Formats: sequence, C-alpha cells, structure tokens
Amino acid sequence: MAASVPRLRFAPSPTGYLHVGGARTALFNWLYARKFGGQFLLRIEDTDKARSTDESTRAIFDGLQWLGLLWDEDVVYQGANVGRNREDAYAMLAHGTAYRCFCTQAELAERRAAAEASKESFKYDRRCDRLDSSEIERRVTAGVPSTLRFRVPEGTTSWDDLVHGEIAFPNKDIEDFIILRGDGTPIYNMAVVSDDIFMQITLVMRGDDHISNTPKQILLYRALGSPLPQFAHLPMIHGLDGKKLSKRHGATAVSDYQHLGILPGAMLNFLALLGWSPGHDIEVMSLARMRELFDTDGLQRKAAIFDPKKLEWMNGQHLSLAPVDELALIVGPALERAGLTSAAELADREAWYHALLELLKVRARTTDDIVRQAEPFFRDEIGYDAEAEAKQWKDRPSTRGLLAGARDALAALPSWDVEGMEGALRALAERSGFGDKAGRIFQPLRVALTGLSVSPGIFDVLAMLGRERSLARIQSAVVHLSDEQA
Ligand code: GLU
Repeated sequence: MAASVPRLRFAPSPTGYLHVGGARTALFNWLYARKFGGQFLLRIEDTDKARSTDESTRAIFDGLQWLGLLWDEDVVYQGANVGRNREDAYAMLAHGTAYRCFCTQAELAERRAAAEASKESFKYDRRCDRLDSSEIERRVTAGVPSTLRFRVPEGTTSWDDLVHGEIAFPNKDIEDFIILRGDGTPIYNMAVVSDDIFMQITLVMRGDDHISNTPKQILLYRALGSPLPQFAHLPMIHGLDGKKLSKRHGATAVSDYQHLGILPGAMLNFLALLGWSPGHDIEVMSLARMRELFDTDGLQRKAAIFDPKKLEWMNGQHLSLAPVDELALIVGPALERAGLTSAAELADREAWYHALLELLKVRARTTDDIVRQAEPFFRDEIGYDAEAEAKQWKDRPSTRGLLAGARDALAALPSWDVEGMEGALRALAERSGFGDKAGRIFQPLRVALTGLSVSPGIFDVLAMLGRERSLARIQSAVVHLSDEQA
C-alpha cells in the first residue's frame, strides 16, 4: 500500500556548504526512511537565484556521499517546479481559498510604517478580498498587476509534532499571506507545500526554526485538499557557549571535518547524538546500529550542544573499532600525501602496514594522528619532539648511558623476539637499580625510537621497526646526546 511507505526528504538551500546542522537533518530523515522501509529524497531548494550556486549544490552532494547518506530517485530542483507551484496557487484562487491582491509593495510598506508609527502590529486588512468580482475582472483585463493571497480561515491550526507534541497557533495571528508574487513566482511556503504534495512526502522532518512556517503550510495543504504529512521539528544546534552554532565556534562545514581526518562513521555517530538519544547510555554506534535503534521517541526538544572534543573522542572510538583493511584505504593516501610512503610500498609490505595500523588506531583520535604516529616507522631519520625530549631525557648523561646499555643488551640478542627483548631490558633495569620500574628505560627508549612520547608499546615499536633500524636509531640518540655534551 503506497500510503504506508514513508517518504521523507532533505531540502537544503544551496547557498553555502553542507552545514553540520543540515547533515544532522539529512541523517535523521535517512535513518527514519531506511528503518521503516521508506524513501529518502533530496530536494535542492534553489528558488533564491541570487544566493544559490551550482558549487554549493555540488558540496551538498559531495557531503552526503561522503557520509554515505544516499538518496532515492532523481534529485528534485525546486526551481524547476515553479509552473506546477503556480498551478496549485491558481487552483486555490479557483476554489476561493485565495484571492487577488492589487495592493502594491509601496502601498503595503506605507501602511506598515503607519501601523508601526502608531505602535500597532501590521496585518493585511483584506481590502482586496472585499472587491467585487466585476472590479477584479476590470483590473485583470486592464493588466493591473496582482499577487495571490491565501485567505486564512478562522480557528486554530494545530498538529501533533513528533518531537514537541501538540503545537497550536491561533489563526488570527496569521495574516492573509501572499502565495504567488506579482511576477508569478511562488512564495517559499507555497513552493514547499506544492513540492511536498507532489513528492508524496509523508513526514516532514526539519529544524525547529521552521515551526512558524508549519501552520501556514498546514492551511495550504487543507486548501489544496491534500492529506497532511506528519511533522517533526528537530532542536537547534548550539555551540558550547549556548549560542546558535556558527562559524565563530569553529568548523561548521561537513567537508572541514572530512579534511581534519574524521571518519564518516564517526561524524554520523556524533551528529546522531545531536538531538537524539537511543537510550540505555548507548553512544558509540555504526550507521547500521543507528538505523536499528532510531525512533522519533528518542528525539529531544532541547537544543543540542556541538562539542568538537566529543567529536574527536567519537572519532577515536570509531578508529579503534574500524577494520584495518578499511582503515588502510583511508590512511594510505594520507601517508602518501605526507610524503612518507607510496602505494607500491604499502602494497609490498601489506602485512607489516596492517599490523602497524592495528597498533596505531587504538591510540589515535583522528587519521591525522595516525599519520603523525606512523612517521617514525617510515622515515630513515627522525627528529625529537622537544617536549618529549625535555620530559624523558631530563638527565642527559645518564640517559645516554642508559640508551647505550639498551643498545648493547638488544644487540646481543640471538633473535629479535618480544620475550628476548623484554628479558634483556628488564635485566638492564635491575642492573641500573630501577628494580621493577622498567618504564624508566622504556620511556627514554621510546623517544629514541620514535622521537615522540606517545607510541604503541615499546616491544611492538621494536618489532615493527625491526632489529637494524631499532639499533641504528638508539645509536643515533646516543650520538645526539653525546654530541651536545662534547
Ligand atoms: N530549505 C529549508 C532549509 O534549508 C528547508 C525547508 C524544509 O525542510 O521544509 O532550512
């Protein structure tokens, strides 16, 4: 039965990049459609010709594709539907739910100013609705320009919002609004309703900044004799300071996060929690799991807070969980861009590369972190991070002695295996009077091997670097520490 299949749409205006708020709205529409076996449609609301650009439309496609929020059916361009929107407006005129208004913009502005001057709120006084039909015909025949206005009936307009519950607007607060401009183009609400009817949308899910449009839209549905869709108004997204999210808060374009090394799955997971909670303290979810758990009952009314730190944390969680062969496809190109390796080398040493990723992914928050931590495993020469050096090589002469001892102990091993390395280094710790605090050797050694104070476990580092490179690197550190004291 066609009526039971949910049809939802994401309807962005192509006037900038794909904003995280837009992506969140797209995600919720997508989740609902996919969960309930419906369709997720994309409508580009490009009627504002001055502000809409093809570049922005492409950015919307790219962003949705990167996130994996693919849409069904052909993209609908709102601007292409003006003819049909106009026919719908004229149908209302024919049915008497709309009327012609001959008041010019200048006249309306004058009356508005007069009302403001006497501190009254301005509402169109319906004077054109009182014209008799012969006068209307005379003006139309004479070519007097007119708009079409919707005649707002008496009463109250209400709906059961899936997020906010019952919302009601007294119709007396809504003026007879224009639906078709003098140039024959539809006004925003007219275009949206006409398109949503044509696209057979069953649930309109959008930001709650649209709540004030909804009573007008409902009145238009009724006037057009169309069944109402359901409505769900999603909470706004705020920055940590409680103000509406804007560029002041940092990156707000989905593509920015793509370039900051965020995984699409982590971005989706983070966006999903902006206004929705699956309950049971569940936070980290794959898209498939979100789809399973999604329900409008979990949608929240209060504004959602965008915390970039949480996004990083979320990304760390997704990196840890990501299968290495998938991660390899994302990290490989990033390693190449950083000039550390080539696709051919990675293919050649695939088992080693995958083992390295397995070690790095659990310590990284972004793919950029992985690249940073991978660097010592690809380069012949390394530099020493100043902070790591200051912290772990504080007493430089004794560090030099310690590293020389580690070099000799490791060089004497018959084979390069973890048990042997561990035995040799723990024995060195004993001999050096550190007792069981072998970390006092591992930490300075980590800096010698990687230049960093964060890395996988020291034996994993030694194993991944291999015997020759490890010993050469410890030797370089010994020389580095001797040079400066000479
Ligand atoms: N184009 C509108 C926006 O970007 C969406 C309208 C709607 O979803 O009804 O906010």
